[in-house]
Amino acid sequence: MKLQKRKFIKILGFSSLILLFPIKALLAATKKIINLNLSKEQKNIMFNDGTERPFTSDLLKEKRKGFYHCANCGNKLFASTAKYDSGTGWPSFSEALPGAFKTKIDYSFGMERVEYHCAKCGAHHGHVFNDGPRESGKRFCNNGLCLIFKPE
Ligand SMILES: [Zn+2]
Repeated sequence: MKLQKRKFIKILGFSSLILLFPIKALLAATKKIINLNLSKEQKNIMFNDGTERPFTSDLLKEKRKGFYHCANCGNKLFASTAKYDSGTGWPSFSEALPGAFKTKIDYSFGMERVEYHCAKCGAHHGHVFNDGPRESGKRFCNNGLCLIFKPE
């Protein structure tokens, strides 16, 4: 009886692995390079789930009114009113514009984090955490290289 139970768990483990594959393939298929002028580093972050070095983004100092757009497809992602200084070294936002992103659980580095991608082009932008200081409780930790700021 015990053996059977173990076998069942094993089968369950296998089938969930198989189930994950088509989802990953589907996600990869929706990713699309639109901006042909993206740098090697931008491509690494947006299409290879890379991360820029902290405290390197020019956008950390950006305090003007306006909107932040996807550097690949131009999709409007954040309003300047949602931006705040989290002290982490990456541009941080308390909320995204409705429908701007799609999220997925990322299990890399032995952590369970929520990764988000541009809903329009599929480019990876960052991770969202539940330790934000404002009402939403969210902290969108975004790679600055994935964003283009357009002042109002
Ligand atoms: Zn995009």
